[in-house]
Amino acid sequence: TSGRPPRLRVAPSPTGDPHVGTAYMSLFNLGFVRRHGGRFVLRIEDTDRARFRADSEQQVFDTLRWLGLTWDEGPDVGGPYAPYRQSERLATYQPYVDRLLADGRAYRCWCSQERLARMREEQRAHKRPTGYDRLCLGKSEQERKALGGTTDTPVVRMLVPDDVALTFTDLIRGEVSAPRPDDQVILKADGFPTYHLAVVVDDHLMGITHVVRGEEWISSTPKHLLLYRWLGFETPEFAHMPLLRNSDKSKISKRKNPAARLTWFLEQGYLPEALLNFLALLGYGQPDEEEIFTFEQFSASFEWSRVNTVGPVFDLDKLNWLNGHY
Ligand code: GLU
Repeated sequence: TSGRPPRLRVAPSPTGDPHVGTAYMSLFNLGFVRRHGGRFVLRIEDTDRARFRADSEQQVFDTLRWLGLTWDEGPDVGGPYAPYRQSERLATYQPYVDRLLADGRAYRCWCSQERLARMREEQRAHKRPTGYDRLCLGKSEQERKALGGTTDTPVVRMLVPDDVALTFTDLIRGEVSAPRPDDQVILKADGFPTYHLAVVVDDHLMGITHVVRGEEWISSTPKHLLLYRWLGFETPEFAHMPLLRNSDKSKISKRKNPAARLTWFLEQGYLPEALLNFLALLGYGQPDEEEIFTFEQFSASFEWSRVNTVGPVFDLDKLNWLNGHY
């Protein structure tokens, strides 16, 4: 990643009304990009067809544009790595799955949902470690089907080595170690990759130098690091932003807090400058502890070391105060 102009991305999943975290992530990605003369990519991660909502993508475009958080490449503006919508890239992922299978890094699994549910129940009842028990590993389709509890179309799982210890350096948190991942599914029965495979392949192919995302993805990063290693891809830098919290310290969710929905701020008539300024104060220490500043000022002095890891409380009084100022 040395010397190359940085390329960062935000990668929302169109599963409903966009979450305020999408704007928060975009702001911090873009703060770094604009400081260092890089490119900002918007990628739509729509591989979860069960949770897909058709109007969600347009809401992402509209709310981010309203905030002035605009992208240099994306599904609606194009760019050298188009398409930027994962559902349009299925043929891109398949060769990587085939390669992992051929290299013995992955295996097919025919276990039915019912069988997996029974397995988990038994693991819990006997207080055994949870995770896929590898019933399908090393078996042909015929051998496995003879045992029952199968479906017709297999998924593909990563074969995670037992002794794998994965630590990585996070730009915000320093040395992070995460537990050994399960034999994660990378290709689903419907032929769509899971997030884990698609995110690694796309970040690599799209030349992403810094992966900046929410703290909830820390435990996924080791899975991604294995895939980077196995596929011979250069590993990007990682930065995991703190989760935004309600005043009771719980994670901000659309279920519990209307302000978790980005469109809520438009409905309420907030000024985009005020919301942007508010988001830039969350978990971030501005030089001289200034409270009111523009995006240009934010980006001109942007440093990862100014990001705190303690989840900032989403304080609407503060937003209201800022909204009165603008
Ligand atoms: N699609 C993921 C999300 O919805 C993106 C996570 C990432 O940035 O890697 O949050």
